[in-house]
Amino acid sequence: MTAPGTERELREAIVRVAQALDRAGFCPSKSGNISARLGDGLLITPSGQPYAEMQPEDIVRLTLDGKPDGGRRRPSSEWPFHTAIYRARVDARAIVHTHSLKATALSCARRSIPAFHYMIAFCGGPDIRCAEYATFGTQALAENAVRALDGRKAVLLANHGVIALGASLDGAHAIAMEVENLAGQYLALLAARLDPVILDAEEMERVAAKFADYGKAG
Ligand SMILES: [Zn+2]
Repeated sequence: MTAPGTERELREAIVRVAQALDRAGFCPSKSGNISARLGDGLLITPSGQPYAEMQPEDIVRLTLDGKPDGGRRRPSSEWPFHTAIYRARVDARAIVHTHSLKATALSCARRSIPAFHYMIAFCGGPDIRCAEYATFGTQALAENAVRALDGRKAVLLANHGVIALGASLDGAHAIAMEVENLAGQYLALLAARLDPVILDAEEMERVAAKFADYGKAG
């Protein structure tokens, strides 16, 4: 799919990705939020609106300082970590935050996901870290998330959920889906009381180089 060009197309793409994640069950009780860079600022899903009813006009434009830039809705309460990630990461063009079941379950044990499978490298590095806990919507959570995202495209938020970022909305969406897939596989291993064989750093670097070659690791 080609990257959206205009603000209108970007708003439509955010609604499309938000509704797809909701249909996949990744956003229980209207949780989760999605954003994309637009010019010097960003577009983000609104606070408290059912995804099924969301229209492109409901997406909120914000500055990178978190100030609303017109529109009829309030931004998602998690706007602080979206703006903090865009300020810290020039490579982030889009961010997807979910409370997807299996990754969130692992986050409640405050467990990082090690390199038990090569697809961990798709998420940017040799593991998916679990960020330290902080209350939702706070600057402290934003700082913890940025720290744990260093060199990564995905992070678990302790007792909360997942953040995935990408060079495009579809890239961030793909990473959010893969984190949930990997979390399910890792939980299955733990449930079976099997000890995963962890791939070494050299192999994970080889895999990362192959993903870079494919231009696949969104
Ligand atoms: Zn959340």
